[in-house]
Amino acid sequence: MSILIFAEGVDKSIKKSSLEAVSAGFALAQKLSTEAIAIAIGEYDAAALQELGKAGANKVLHVNVAGYPSAIAYASIIAGAAKEAGASVVLLSKSALGDGIVSRLSVQLNAASATGVLAVPEVSGDTLKVRKSIYTGKAFAELSLTGAVKVISLAKNAVPVKEDGAAATVESKTYPLSDLAGKLVHQKEEKASGDILLTEADIVVSGGRGLKGPENWGMIEELAKILGAATGCSKPVSDLDWRPHHEHVGQTGVKVSPNLYIAVGISGAIQHLAGVSASKVIVVINKDPEAPFFKAADYGIVGDAFEVVPKLIEAAKKL
Ligand SMILES: Cc1cc2nc3c(=O)[nH]c(=O)nc-3n(C[C@H](O)[C@H](O)[C@H](O)COP(=O)(O)OP(=O)(O)OC[C@H]3O[C@@H](n4cnc5c(N)ncnc54)[C@H](O)[C@@H]3O)c2cc1C
Repeated sequence: MSILIFAEGVDKSIKKSSLEAVSAGFALAQKLSTEAIAIAIGEYDAAALQELGKAGANKVLHVNVAGYPSAIAYASIIAGAAKEAGASVVLLSKSALGDGIVSRLSVQLNAASATGVLAVPEVSGDTLKVRKSIYTGKAFAELSLTGAVKVISLAKNAVPVKEDGAAATVESKTYPLSDLAGKLVHQKEEKASGDILLTEADIVVSGGRGLKGPENWGMIEELAKILGAATGCSKPVSDLDWRPHHEHVGQTGVKVSPNLYIAVGISGAIQHLAGVSASKVIVVINKDPEAPFFKAADYGIVGDAFEVVPKLIEAAKKL
């Protein structure tokens, strides 16, 4: 028996959300008195693979393939590794790729599955109990997963990354692809604008129609740069082509879960809140004290964005 954790990467580095999944896998392995094995698929150097050890993996399987395979190919490789390792649980982080892998893995491994789980699963005999948010963050569901194998994806920011794990042994592996996966050519992944991926960001600075036009985004980008944040926006802003569509946050856009979400000139419509409700701390800057976003905010500044944001930039520079 073991816990297998799929570590997703970008630009030859392991994503932070995957390190969180490895740390969750380590905690679960401790509860089940077994080992946590991470599997990294792609081109990674030794330092990137050792990050997995620090995060809690006892062993790392490295499947060195070029480029970005399809979800079908990833699932085929992970299923092969899970069978070989006798994994009772396969963990991964929730992402667009992760969603495509979970469903395929649960079919291939005949496993119970849950996505977007909010904490390390609780163990009760052969059952794993997990908690996830449902109805765009308005309620929680408790699920009991039974059966010999479970496949679980973890919401971002649900578990802190462990940083003091021992050095992991790294094994180079190859696994045969399923017939279907073998017929698919490698896909190319293009990086969105900005240095920090919106879905991975610890801090997001997001702007709405209150910013009046694309020419005013300089201050949003400057604040984001100083804070090491990604930039986001409301849907009308991307519909108006003020910002690219991949920055649109909300029910119909990207769902984010940063430690800090700063909303500037965004009213806080329910469809926008659906994409930000998993944020740990929400700061709202709006000139209308009645803006609905203030009800969801941890901190609110009632004021004109064109006065408040430059002051925040100055304060952040001093920090
Ligand atoms: C099916 C459906 C799906 C949708 N999906 C999404 C989604 O995924 N994401 C999303 O964002 N929206 C979504 N919407 C749209 C949503 O309902 C709102 O219309 C939208 O979020 C409003 O964007 P906004 O807050 O930027 O603009 P507005 O509603 O125009 O609000 C602008 C805000 O800026 C404030 N403001 C103005 N000037 C200043 C200033 N100088 N300083 C500070 N504050 C100022 C105003 O007080 C106001 O609160 C969806 C709608 C539908 C019907």
